[in-house]
Amino acid sequence: MPLMTPKSFFSDIYEITPEFLEKKGIRAIVSDIDNTLVTYDDAKPTERLLEWFSVMQNAGIKIAFISNNNGDRVRVFNEELGYHYFPNAKKPLIKTMLKAIETLGEGKEHTAALGDQILTDIVAGNRAGIYTILVPPIKDKTNLFFRTKRLIERGTVQKYLKEHPEAKIDYERTVWAKR
Ligand SMILES: [Mg+2]
Repeated sequence: MPLMTPKSFFSDIYEITPEFLEKKGIRAIVSDIDNTLVTYDDAKPTERLLEWFSVMQNAGIKIAFISNNNGDRVRVFNEELGYHYFPNAKKPLIKTMLKAIETLGEGKEHTAALGDQILTDIVAGNRAGIYTILVPPIKDKTNLFFRTKRLIERGTVQKYLKEHPEAKIDYERTVWAKR
């Protein structure tokens, strides 16, 4: 399904460089937090993540957080960064995502959605008409709900990797390969 297909798929966010974004004309990122940037257990950005933010910032890439999680989680995560943030976003609905895109002010053609969930982050980004970047969940949950989601996503991931042999993803080590 085209709405589920990401434009790019990286093994983690640290593979995403300013050079790559520049090549794609991307100047702003609306990013998910949980399991994309940090695990559910990390209230704050890690050192490595802060470094990545500053690399992006130095390259002129704007970042906003858009999360389906609640206001407190997102606010605390963002406290030292002071970026724009949008909790309770209800992705795959796009109302909040459109607001985030507009707030960053680079226009749809220069903005990318970044996230670990195809059914929320990627579908919302595609529906909003922006570039979409998928990364595998950092630390996946293993309950039935999440296993069912992975099952729904599996075909999309396999198809993407078949069509993009250049992607440096070891499928067998991703959450989608687990049964
Ligand atoms: Mg997430």
